[in-house]
Parts: sequence; structure tokens; C-alpha cells
Amino acid sequence: MNSLIEVKKLRKSFGKLDVLHEIDLAVEKGEVIAIIGPSGSGKSTFLRCLNGLETPTAGSIKIGTHTLKFNGKKPKDKEIRSLRSQTSMVFQSFNLFPHLTALQNVMEGLVTVQGMSKEAASIQVKGLLEKVGLSQKKDAFPIQLSGGQQQRVAIARALAMNPSVLLLDEPTSALDPELVGGVLAIIRELTKDKTQTMMIVTHEMNFARDVADRVIFMDDGKIIETGTPDEVFGHPTHARTKQFLDQLY
Ligand code: ADP
Ligand code: MG
Repeated sequence: MNSLIEVKKLRKSFGKLDVLHEIDLAVEKGEVIAIIGPSGSGKSTFLRCLNGLETPTAGSIKIGTHTLKFNGKKPKDKEIRSLRSQTSMVFQSFNLFPHLTALQNVMEGLVTVQGMSKEAASIQVKGLLEKVGLSQKKDAFPIQLSGGQQQRVAIARALAMNPSVLLLDEPTSALDPELVGGVLAIIRELTKDKTQTMMIVTHEMNFARDVADRVIFMDDGKIIETGTPDEVFGHPTHARTKQFLDQLY
């Protein structure tokens, strides 16, 4: 089988701290994966490794046709760029450019990374802002937007790069409760046509149950359990998964 993403024996240490222990995972094109687990279990580090923001200590990551093997040395910039060109990340804290408008934020990568003309980029981006329900706000700066609106701009910006896989790291954790639903609705919409591969770290269990094809439970830098939402939420097989889910409800 030829999966879109193949992660093999991936390890990451920060100095003496082993944060990821031999992660193995294959993800098919169009799959929506929800990653759940306690704070500090390595969820963000895992996504950051996939996006090239962290350099794994060992193991390999294949996305599409490109494989990167890690051996403790710094990979070549070209290799990191190729990983980045296939993944887009949405962060908990939005991370928009404060001095650029919503439209400019979403255009930025198309113009600077992909070398598209500003005219062509702005046409493409207007459609994306529409998709996230923000056409009216295209000329607003981040400071003039609510957290939910900022996160929707960040989602449009990530989609603009047309990534093989969209990585979302707790996209609603920094939002006021009344803004969470709107952002989840946008993400839910993106999962509907089953073409965009996504990996979402989330504490929104009802949402995960609803949209995910597969749920991964991580603890202590390992994938402890993986299965359909019904399997993991309804019939968890590992004590640690049960314990984690029990304390949530
Ligand atoms: P999660 O996203 O599941 O809460 P993280 O991936 O953020 O977990 O963190 C996993 C562990 O790695 C934690 O113990 C955290 O303190 C540690 N860690 C994360 N990033 C760094 C870093 N840049 N330097 C040192 N330790 C880090
Ligand atoms: Mg995290």
C-alpha cells in the first residue's frame, strides 16, 4: 500500500528529554485524523516535525513522493522546504502577520513562496476568504478581528498553499467559548468533500468524534491507541485511553 504520509520510527528529543518515542503512522489521502491526548504528550511536537518546524532526532517522514530520513544531523534547507511545501499548519495562537490585512496575510505565501503575481494571488485569495466567511473583512488588520475571525484567516492562509496535508494544532483552544463553534464549523465544512488530508490536534471530543475518520490517542510521546471514533471513544482498549477519556466527562 502506498500511503500519502508514512512516518517510521520517528523520535524527537530536546537534549535529554525524549519527547517522541518511535512514532509509526500511515495516513491515506483524504483521511481526517484527530489526535487527542494529555498536555505534554508530544502532540504539538509531532505536528511540528511533520511541518519541518522541529528536526526529528531519528526515523523518517514520507509525504507524497518525498522521503526525509533523520540521523541527528541538520537536514538540508532544500529538504525542509520540500516538507514545508506539502504541509500547512494552523496554530493555536493564529500567528497572523500583524502589519498585513486579512487579504494580504492569505496572499503572502502565494506571492513570496510561490512567486505568483499579486493580481492572480488576490483573485485566488478572495475565493478562500469567502470560503471561511470573511469576504467582508478582507481589508481588516488582525487587531481589528475577533480571535475566531483571525483563526479563519489563518485557515484560509494555510489552504492557499494547497497543501497535501493540513495540520491544525488545537485551532480553537485560544478562543472565547462563543467563538469556538464558528471555527469548528469551517473546519467541518473542509472535511466534507473528503479530499483534503488533515491532522487535527484537538480537545473538542464531540467534534473529533464527528469529523475524524480515525482518532489517535497519544501519551508520553507514543501512539497508545488508534481506531475509528467509535472504537476509541466508545470502546477504548487501553487503560490510559480510558483514564484520559473518563476525566473529560
Ligand atoms: P502537547 O502538544 O501534547 O501538549 P508538546 O509537544 O508541546 O506536547 O510537548 C511535549 C514535551 O516536550 C513537553 O514535555 C514539553 O515541555 C517538551 N517540549 C516541547 N517543545 C520543547 C522545546 N522547544 N524545548 C524543550 N522541550 C520542549
Ligand atoms: Mg500542544
